[in-house]
Amino acid sequence: MHHLLPIPAFQDNYLWLLHDGRQALVVDPGDAAPVLACLAQHQLRLQAILLTHHHADHTGGVAELRAATGATVHAPAAETLPASVGPVQALADGDRLALLGLEFECLAVPGHTAGHGAYHAAQAPGGPLLFCGDTLFSAGCGRLFEGTPAQMLASLDRLAALPDDTRVCCAHEYTLSNLRFARAVEPGNADIERQLARCSALRERGLPTLPSTLAQERRINPFLRSREPSVVATLAQHDPQATDEVARFAALREWKNGFR
Ligand code: ZN
Ligand code: FE
Repeated sequence: MHHLLPIPAFQDNYLWLLHDGRQALVVDPGDAAPVLACLAQHQLRLQAILLTHHHADHTGGVAELRAATGATVHAPAAETLPASVGPVQALADGDRLALLGLEFECLAVPGHTAGHGAYHAAQAPGGPLLFCGDTLFSAGCGRLFEGTPAQMLASLDRLAALPDDTRVCCAHEYTLSNLRFARAVEPGNADIERQLARCSALRERGLPTLPSTLAQERRINPFLRSREPSVVATLAQHDPQATDEVARFAALREWKNGFR
């Protein structure tokens, strides 16, 4: 039996911790203190740290956590990490990793950063797990800091091909603002309205809206729906120059960048 905990950090980050009652792994620990507190509270030993990309809010706590726990650090081979992270076990696309009795596959999902990776455990009891960093958010996706729209679209297509019941563990609580944008893109989408009501109630109680599921994301996430006829029609009005799927995806991302 595994327990999945989103540890809140900074303004809106989640540092995902997975444990079996004795051993734990943590994904993208931007800060060590809340992870150490969680380990102490549940009397866990930290076995591994998984990194999705190089940004400080995902890597800032690695050195302190490694020093305190001796955990091994795993990261995508294509990503250039800050020196403070120290040595890592580099994972290429498709490489597998055995942790906590589960097998994780590393997926290369460039776009937000050039070497961004994600981790997928297909056989996890309770449903497959996906740790996707800043690539896929609930009802949104990461900004394109280093990659191209074509890369991000291909990366999201890969993630969207995972099973319906995959639990999507995103690194930020951006769901409500993403849903407001999703509603502007698809005013007639009842799933988006339902999810807005549900997530607003959760946030009012201070609870996370995550994990989501891939089935749900396929219904509400405009960045997974850029080929839907209604979205294509809206984007054609928004940016008449965008006449192929990559240009439409780029126009959608640009629209979101300026959306308030
Ligand atoms: Zn980031
Ligand atoms: Fe981030």
